[in-house]
Amino acid sequence: MAVPPAAVPCRPGGIRPPGCDTGPVAVPLTYLDHAATTALRPEAREAMLEWLGGRFGNPSGAHPVARAARRAVDEARDVVGGVLGCRPNEVVFTSGGTEADNLAVRGVHAARPGPVLCSAIEHEAVLAPVAQVGGSTVPVEPTGRIDLAALTDALAAAAGTTLVSVMAANNEIGVVQPIPDVVEAVRHAAPDATVHTDAVQAAPWLDVAALAAGVDLVAVSAHKFGGPQGVGALVVRRGTPLHAQALGGGQERELRSGTHNVAGIAGMAAALTAAARDRAATAARVSRLRDRLADGLLAAVPGAIETGVSGVAGGDRRHRLPGTVHLCLPDVESEALLFLLEADGVCASAASACASGAQQASHVLAALGVPPERATGALRLTLGWTSTDADVDAALTAVPAAVARLQGVPA
Ligand code: PLP
Repeated sequence: MAVPPAAVPCRPGGIRPPGCDTGPVAVPLTYLDHAATTALRPEAREAMLEWLGGRFGNPSGAHPVARAARRAVDEARDVVGGVLGCRPNEVVFTSGGTEADNLAVRGVHAARPGPVLCSAIEHEAVLAPVAQVGGSTVPVEPTGRIDLAALTDALAAAAGTTLVSVMAANNEIGVVQPIPDVVEAVRHAAPDATVHTDAVQAAPWLDVAALAAGVDLVAVSAHKFGGPQGVGALVVRRGTPLHAQALGGGQERELRSGTHNVAGIAGMAAALTAAARDRAATAARVSRLRDRLADGLLAAVPGAIETGVSGVAGGDRRHRLPGTVHLCLPDVESEALLFLLEADGVCASAASACASGAQQASHVLAALGVPPERATGALRLTLGWTSTDADVDAALTAVPAAVARLQGVPA
């Protein structure tokens, strides 16, 4: 028999989307894992409900019901193109960030086989297909920012490079990459190479249209900016060599076959509009929360370091996403820490989530040169558009207490 989840009282800052019922909810009190996924925005919910209730239709058909669904997809395409700074017909809808990244890497390699490069701290959605096509990684600096000199050297060493992939912002430590500088380096050293950026984590916080203006392929995922899970997009600028990876009905200008997820696409467009509208205010508000959280924990936990910032030349929080706090805490193991935090109602993470839910050694921290004994105590706390001071207060109480308990320090 299924056991219903325990009901816990909701409080402001909980993850209940505005507009939902009030009363007890089976959600964590303090959600600090917005980089894994964030709460659905009410605008997205509303846009989706239209297509989950009365309206339906296969956008590939010819009759009025199908044409209405196609209109909804095309309207969403206009919106997504507008926010991401591309033409509507340069937007390819996918099932999320992973598929968009795979299409970019494998699709370019299929169209133009040749050496492929990516940064050493990419998400697995880029690293795995890059490894599959025999590509290699470019080191990052101890701050997490790409080593531009090493990129230039790698391009010189790998003549005929066809693809360079550097993420706009990292999912573990939140470091933001100098994408315009990457584009300039690639255009100079390998003018024929295609440039891809995984903007999945950047999209909730940064102006992707400006940041990735010179990039050929840009991947985003709706559930990171308040849209539904299982839908995303790849911007494919005109003239980019790309072969489809999902073959079939020829949807999305033959680049991604499969019946459109109309509700999801409508929800993504609504969420992206809302995220872009609120971006500046949310980023300013959340970075103040982030600073209070990071500074408070650094002061409360002796020996804690802010990864890639504390004691690192050039390490600067201004090069981090507004919502990310990544710390390495001394003499604790992440898994035990997360267990105690969960018992205290705090949802956090160590590295990025993998399918098994297990914690794995972080390739990101290794690439930054964080020694393994420090990486063992990694803690990622990520704030989002629904985060409040109450979330920060809860973490400022729970984290130092959990660390002290694990270190055997008497209360
Ligand atoms: N790229 C980055 C940087 C991510 O953080 C994620 C998800 O965590 C993905 C790609 C994969 O996106 P999706 O969950 O939509 O498949």
